[in-house]
Amino acid sequence: MKFYSTNNPENFVSLKEAVIKGLAPDQGLYMPERVPVMPAEFFQELPFMSFQEMGVEIIRALFKEDLTETQIQVLVAHTLSFPAPLVQVEEGVYSLELFHGPTLAFKDFGARFCSKLMSMLMAKEERLVRVLVATSGDTGSAVANGFYKVPGVEVIILYPKGKVSKLQEKQFTTLGENIHCLEVDGVFDDCQRMVKQAFLDEELNQKMLLTSANSINIARWIPQCLYYFHAWAQLPDKEKKLAVSVPSGNFGNIGAGILAERMGLPIDIFVASTNVNKVVPEFLDSGIFEPMPSLATISNSMDVGNPSNFYRLLDLYGNDEAKLKSKMVGYYFSDEETAEALRKVNTTTGYLMDPHGAVGYLGLKNFLEGKEAEFQGIFLETAHPGKFQSTVEEVLQESIQLPERLQAFLTKEVKSESMGNDFEEFKEYLLAR
Ligand SMILES: *Cc1c(COP(=O)(O)O)cnc(C)c1O
Repeated sequence: MKFYSTNNPENFVSLKEAVIKGLAPDQGLYMPERVPVMPAEFFQELPFMSFQEMGVEIIRALFKEDLTETQIQVLVAHTLSFPAPLVQVEEGVYSLELFHGPTLAFKDFGARFCSKLMSMLMAKEERLVRVLVATSGDTGSAVANGFYKVPGVEVIILYPKGKVSKLQEKQFTTLGENIHCLEVDGVFDDCQRMVKQAFLDEELNQKMLLTSANSINIARWIPQCLYYFHAWAQLPDKEKKLAVSVPSGNFGNIGAGILAERMGLPIDIFVASTNVNKVVPEFLDSGIFEPMPSLATISNSMDVGNPSNFYRLLDLYGNDEAKLKSKMVGYYFSDEETAEALRKVNTTTGYLMDPHGAVGYLGLKNFLEGKEAEFQGIFLETAHPGKFQSTVEEVLQESIQLPERLQAFLTKEVKSESMGNDFEEFKEYLLAR
């Protein structure tokens, strides 16, 4: 499979180059040269396949020219090493739980695939590989966990000071070893800008081998399509139309859902659900894409004002805006609405969502209203509620149980360095390493 940049569809690079570069030199996003459509027999067998069996079929369809059969098997086994159950919350409303991985958020899927694939592609590389990551919370822990103690790799994580939950911060800043953390005096968009600029900086790129593990990287982005197939496989009713609601920030996750749809998965409508960082819902309404400074909310992993995967959505529909709008609706919600939904669903059904999942639930319910006879819906539950313990406890007015995996981090010491939001300071830091 070759990859082109959304800014230049004529210029192709190999899988290795796309993964190492992360972002194309023209600042575009890499896209697969073609999207393989899975045959009808695949969908007939899908309900009877295990998560890993299905994963191997999809990854083989995408990467059979680039990886050996053994590499594909190893990669998929490493990535899909925990379940993604579909849980019924209400009649016709399902939660796809993507938080059963080591850091309890869906980013574990992409991060595990990415770290494994990078080590396969870089096996012969002699230089130290530096992975730069900007995080609004969950990317940091997933990537840190994926690369922790991987030989020949150093990870540098930038996160906005005071804007990630304490627990999230503890999950990546306490590891040490080859994981280095910078607490940036700014917002997530500053972190993202600094990382992007580093990749475009000639001097830095001459002196060191830099790569990104952000959701812009195809090695993070593409594997996320897998659990959409698995969700459909678990649906009891395969006849009724299907809406899938994705709580979105950088729009990588929902973009991977569209990739699955383009590969033949029968999803009728995508619901882009956001908090007040509503750039994409507004675009779907007005046709104008206008990035804005990000605003802080209780669903902080989605506090993104300039969603970096946006152009992938358009590209997947041949840059046809009308086509995109016919397959996607968008809604946004305030913190009050999110908290209310979290509380109400918990009281009426006993199901506990995290604030991000609650945004996804709200988007789905908004879309389904009046269409329940025709549609069923899935919302993606992107993180374990325990990751947002203080918010969830405040909303419910009661304490919640923290998973053991999270508790273990609480007593550990944060090891991070402070940094301004100026690129030159970051560059100095890198050059001094
Ligand atoms: C990262 C994240 C999101 C947003 O996903 P995108 O792919 O950036 O749209 C949603 N929920 C949680 C819990 C996250 O960590």
